[in-house]
This record gives sequence, C-alpha cells and structure tokens, in this order.
Amino acid sequence: MKSSKGKVPVGGKAKRVTVVPHGARKQKEKDPVEVFCRVRPLKEEEGESCMSIVRDNRLQIEPPESSLAFKSGQKNPTQHTFKRVINGTSSQSTVYDMVGFPLTEQLLQGKHGLLFAYGITNSGKTYTMTGEPDAPGILPRCLDVIFNSIAEVQAPKFVFRPDGSNGFNIFSESDARVEQYRNRGKKVSPRMRAAESEFSEMLRVPDQRKVTEGVDEDSQYAVFVSYVEIYNNYAFDLLEDTPVDSIVPKPPKSKNLREDTNHNMYVSGGTEVEVKSTEEAFDVLQRGQKRRRVAMTTMNTESSRSHSVFTIRLVQAPLNHSGEAVIEDKSLLTISQLSLVDLAGSERTTRTHCTGDRLREANNINANLMVLRTCMETLRDNQVGGGATRIVPYRDSKLTHLFKNYFDGQGRVAMIVCVSPSSTDYDETIHVMRFAEVTQEVMVSRPQEVKKQVGLAPGRHRGELSLLSP
Ligand code: ADP
Ligand code: MG
Repeated sequence: MKSSKGKVPVGGKAKRVTVVPHGARKQKEKDPVEVFCRVRPLKEEEGESCMSIVRDNRLQIEPPESSLAFKSGQKNPTQHTFKRVINGTSSQSTVYDMVGFPLTEQLLQGKHGLLFAYGITNSGKTYTMTGEPDAPGILPRCLDVIFNSIAEVQAPKFVFRPDGSNGFNIFSESDARVEQYRNRGKKVSPRMRAAESEFSEMLRVPDQRKVTEGVDEDSQYAVFVSYVEIYNNYAFDLLEDTPVDSIVPKPPKSKNLREDTNHNMYVSGGTEVEVKSTEEAFDVLQRGQKRRRVAMTTMNTESSRSHSVFTIRLVQAPLNHSGEAVIEDKSLLTISQLSLVDLAGSERTTRTHCTGDRLREANNINANLMVLRTCMETLRDNQVGGGATRIVPYRDSKLTHLFKNYFDGQGRVAMIVCVSPSSTDYDETIHVMRFAEVTQEVMVSRPQEVKKQVGLAPGRHRGELSLLSP
C-alpha cells in the first residue's frame, strides 16, 4: 500500500491544490461534486481544538506541536474551502436542509443522487447519515420527506415488484391484494417495533417538510429500500432473508455487481424491500444492522472498516386515462434512486495499532478508499485536460464499481466530509482535507430527468375523466 508519509507536504505554507471557485470552470450542464464539511463538537476528554471556521465556507487548521507536520517544520495554518463548512452547533435539521433536501427533491423529480460521508472513525459520519433517536440524521429525514410528499399518490403495496434485473414489474390492484394477503403474517406489530426499534415513533420527531414541485398527481409512487455492506472486495446483502444461525454463524455470501439495460450498476440478487412509511423503512434498516453486527463478528472485524450503502429507490408510473389505476406498461416507469453511503474510517493503519488479522484486513479495507481517491484524481486530471485521458479505475474496487455511473453523468454526487476538531487527529485530518479538495474539482454532468411523458390529460387522479371515458 502506498504511504503518503514523507511524500506529500503536510500542512505547511498554505500551499495546496488550487481550488476552483464554484462555477468558475462551469461548462454547460456540468456541476462540481458538492463537498460540505461538518466539524463535530469537541469532546471534553479531547483537550484542544486545532480548527476554526473563518468563513461559512472556509476552515482554518493549525498544526499542533504534537503533530508530525509540526515536528517536520510545517508550522503555518492552512485554509480549506468547501461549498459550506458546518459548525458543531448546527442541528441535524440544518444539515438536512443544506445537503439532504436538494437530493430528496431531485429523487422525487425522477433523478438519481449519491451522498458519501467521508472521514476518520469517530468524526461523525454515522451521526450525520443515520443520527440518533433524538437527533435523526439525513437518512430518516429523507424518508420522512419522501413519504410526506407522496402521501396522496402512494400505490398500494405490491403493485410494483422487483423483476430481478434492477427493474420492476407492474401488477393490477387485485393482484396486489392477493400478494398483500399472502404477506399478512410478516408485518411487525407496532408494539414489537417500539420495543425493538431505537428509532421508535415515540422517540423520533418526524421531519414535516414536503416536496411539492415535481410530484405528479397523475402518477402513483412506491418506495423500495436496500442495504448493502461493502467490505474488502465483498458486497453483502444485509436484507437477505435467510435466517442467521446464532450458534454457528457463517459469514454472509458475497454478491456480484451487474449492469442493467439502462447502464445502472446494481447488486445482483440483492433484496429490495417495499416500505410504506419511515417506520417500516427503519425496521428494515435495523434488521440490516443486526445482520451487519453478526457478519462483522464472524469475520472478526469492526464495522468502522466497512462501507454501508443504504439505497432508496422511488418507482413511479402514470395513471391510466380514467385515473383509476396505473398503466401496466414497464416502459412508462420512472425509477430514481438515492444512495446514502457511510464510508469506512479513512484513517491509515499506522494509527490504529492493529495486529495480525486486523492489520491485514485494515490494509484491504483502505483499498476501497484508495481506489475512490485514485478515481477522483483521474477524473479531475482527465477533465483538466492537457495530457492523455487515462482510464478511471472504477472496477478496481467494489465501492467505485457500484457508483461508476454517477461519475459518468448519471446523477448528482455530494459528499459530507466529517471532521473531528481535536488536535490529536490533526495528521489524519489533513489527509482528509486533501482528498476533499480533489473531490470538489471533479465535474459531474447534471442529471437528466428520466420521467416519461404519456400524453394523457392532466387531472386524471380526480377520476373526473372517467365519467367521460367510454
Ligand atoms: P463515525 O461514524 O464517523 O465513526 P459517529 O457518527 O459514530 O462517528 O460519531 C462519533 C461520536 O460523536 C458519537 O458519539 C456521536 O454521537 C458524536 N457526534 C458526532 N457528530 C456530532 C455532532 N455533530 N453533534 C453532536 N455529537 C456528534
Ligand atoms: Mg460510523
């Protein structure tokens, strides 16, 4: 594994990669990857902070005397520019507004989105993405806003069903009712849910926001979620419906990645669960997290070493001329997705004092992040031009392979870089800054709306037209 120790100047004379101001290199229909920086509050036991926010988009970091950088003579503070820097007192709701809401809005308008949380272990990635019962993060808020927005136009359960190749089949409402009847035993009772769920309805304050623009009253919608863990070169389906053997648990089986007919990558044979509310989605998430804990234990590793990918897919189909049911024509489906990725800790192994197995595995796990970094660098270099265009090595890791299409213009990409303000984390934090700076120079094509036009009269949902139709 490449080590940047000694090669790259750490800290130093504020000499760094030139950050292109937002919009400056804007070509038609291309936007830079949006990179936000969230600084978590300093903890009591952590001593001193090494950072200050000098503007709402600029962070200043000072090398502490104890840092490797300081010891090698780099004593000046550095400044780092982002789309926004979010301070430790900003609420989860503010962060959702800034980062999550635009992605939710796009999803409802039929466009894809991808959000990464990047940073060292204990920097606030999971807090930002999932959050805590009394401080829900981006994921539950996205779900709340989606369900608030489609409340009136949600399709009955099982009208849309995954077809096994990343698409959906459409069934009539009577078929759907049969399926609902078949599945009636599988529902978790609200009491069981409240007992099991950390995010039970009693504790959680749902997000009240709603997207109105782009939600089509003449369509019906359904929400599907999937949850995949990427660890080394494996992709595990955390929602797989095979019972976990609690006495002799076996490591989960890895899945392959495939490309569908629309050139979207997906986890082949992965489970997608239709959910009708945020609470249902949380049951699913929790089921996945339980599996994740078992899997990590059987593989003798820690969860901070793997990447978890929670994907929300929104399926919509237009209503027929009478406004009574969706048109059963697959070619009229609009499928959009939002992937929320809680990445593995970005720290290098030298710091975590691993031995034996842990060390070997830690080296591997960083490989996914290394490839992500190389892909970003290659993309940026290719876009800057001047030299020969190099192939972006997406296929070198499961993580980048799964998301390669986003970087080729399939959707909006955003990243939240989570940082700990603690002086003791300085040397790692500087590496994080460097990656962030490369990332925000990468330009991604603006996602196209994929919604199909059916050429039927609007207002069909009211059913008034049925009086006129034969
Ligand atoms: P990571 O997922 O990056 O390892 P976590 O999200 O688990 O880190 O955060 C580490 C700890 O810091 C947790 O105890 C979490 O509650 C706390 N924390 C992180 N970010 C914030 C924040 N913005 N405000 C308050 N507490 C935070
Ligand atoms: Mg975490």
